[in-house]
Amino acid sequence: MIASKIKAAVRDVHDFPKQGIIFKDITPILKDPGLCKEITTALAEQLRGLEIDVVAGIESRGFLFGPSLAQLLGIPFVPIRKAGKLPYKTISQSYDLEYGSATIECHEDALLAGQKVLIHDDLLATGGTVVAASKLIMQLGASVAAYSFIISLDFLNGRQRLVPYGDQVFSLADY
Ligand code: IMP
Repeated sequence: MIASKIKAAVRDVHDFPKQGIIFKDITPILKDPGLCKEITTALAEQLRGLEIDVVAGIESRGFLFGPSLAQLLGIPFVPIRKAGKLPYKTISQSYDLEYGSATIECHEDALLAGQKVLIHDDLLATGGTVVAASKLIMQLGASVAAYSFIISLDFLNGRQRLVPYGDQVFSLADY
């Protein structure tokens, strides 16, 4: 079962990036190429029957499996990055963090109006990041077809925050 394999591989790091947080470190997964392949396949299988034109991955851990998922599905990959990283003309969205705020961007020609986009990231926590990504996608006239995560921290209720943007939320291992 993929969920138990993921949970066995993920490492809990206490007090990172700050006191009181237990960070799910997915880097041990990357040392196991067989598990990486299984994860990519399982992510694709969850999407069977859905109409998806593009995978949009979120910096930085959304870049680990996002491109291989897009390649498996035979569709383009689009990077959503932190402010100031993308070289061409961008559009941006800011969102609140526990302390302060963050801004994400994508290229203004990243998507075509009407395209159906899968948003992929490694982990769903409060949902703030992918809500901002959803707004970016909608700014370009595209729509969110589904969300795909390796891990969902369900106790933080991120799924409920995504309901207004897209009701298809998939993850492989839930806590
Ligand atoms: P959210 O915006 O609160 O849903 O946080 C999700 C974002 O923070 C994602 O881009 C994750 O990569 C990152 N993140 C938050 N907590 C963790 C964690 O425990 N492990 C890995 N990434 C995390």
